[in-house]
Amino acid sequence: MSGYVTDKTLSVCADMFGCPNRCLHCWLGHSPNVRMEDGADEYIVGKFSPYCEKIEFYSWLREPDFCDGYKKRWEKDLALSKNARPERFGLASFWRIVRDEDYVPWLKTLGVKKVQLTLFGLEKTTDRYVGRRGAYGEILKATDIMIKNGVTPRWQCFINEENKDEIVKIYGLARKMRETVCPELEFFVHEGSCDGENRKLYPIRINKRDIPEELIPVYFGYGDLLTERECCLALENDGSQPYFHNGDGIVIYISNEYDVFFNFTNMSDPWKIGNLVSTPADELVRMIVCEDTPALRLAKKTSWSRLAETFGDKSSERAFSLDDYKIFLFNKYLDSEAAGGKKEE
Ligand code: SF4
Repeated sequence: MSGYVTDKTLSVCADMFGCPNRCLHCWLGHSPNVRMEDGADEYIVGKFSPYCEKIEFYSWLREPDFCDGYKKRWEKDLALSKNARPERFGLASFWRIVRDEDYVPWLKTLGVKKVQLTLFGLEKTTDRYVGRRGAYGEILKATDIMIKNGVTPRWQCFINEENKDEIVKIYGLARKMRETVCPELEFFVHEGSCDGENRKLYPIRINKRDIPEELIPVYFGYGDLLTERECCLALENDGSQPYFHNGDGIVIYISNEYDVFFNFTNMSDPWKIGNLVSTPADELVRMIVCEDTPALRLAKKTSWSRLAETFGDKSSERAFSLDDYKIFLFNKYLDSEAAGGKKEE
């Protein structure tokens, strides 16, 4: 065993059951739903256990409670965790809410008071963005079920050029619901990261000047929102190296093929740390604890100013937070390096 033992809490999120949706904005990226084999959970925890004092184990990283027997599954996640307890994060499955009347009452027993639901516009648009016909109707039905059970819905909307007018209509619906059935209903709008699947929406990313005025008061982080041009200007003299770092805890994602990733960004090949089956555990833990992975090594060979100069578009008015823009640039750089240093078209 290596000397790389960490006293940080290791949160291990394994994609054991997949997700019913294929959202166009999914920053994790799409992958097939493959149920991991029985015993995968013990195997995963067993690999890390000799090196970690505290482990939070999650049997999901895409849709919580998507598996049948979700109550027993939660108990098992708790039992497999070591000196730590997994959290709920106000996340739940609207797919399950509308199919299982025990689900929301059960969530309440776990202390869940609020659940986030994501809309992309009216019916056709939301169904298209979620990747499933009927999704919009399910979200409204789930909202109704939550209100009846005393759980607060938190509606988030992702805005692009093509759906901005529909988001205004959804905001109108939210205000009406606040007046009539649920004064606590929460609502906010966001442009989303430009990562994973959502990066493919770059051509229709909202321009800052096109954000409808009535949405500005409910726009998350509007005060720090920049245009792409402003991001490029903010970085043009920044000679520092890109830096991605774990905080007080370490969060890792395990794909259904046992590939291991940090949670810094999407689960693409350039970000792969290793594979739980084929990479020796002590080497995997060393790379995780020392943050010594192929992507992070490439980070040391460039600077933000160079990335902005190479991959940024100073004529673009697209809206970004600076942090989201940095990861967008860095992922373009990784793709370019994987292609032999050629700049993407
Ligand atoms: S955003 Fe969430 S619900 Fe949508 S496809 Fe990704 S993991 Fe599934």
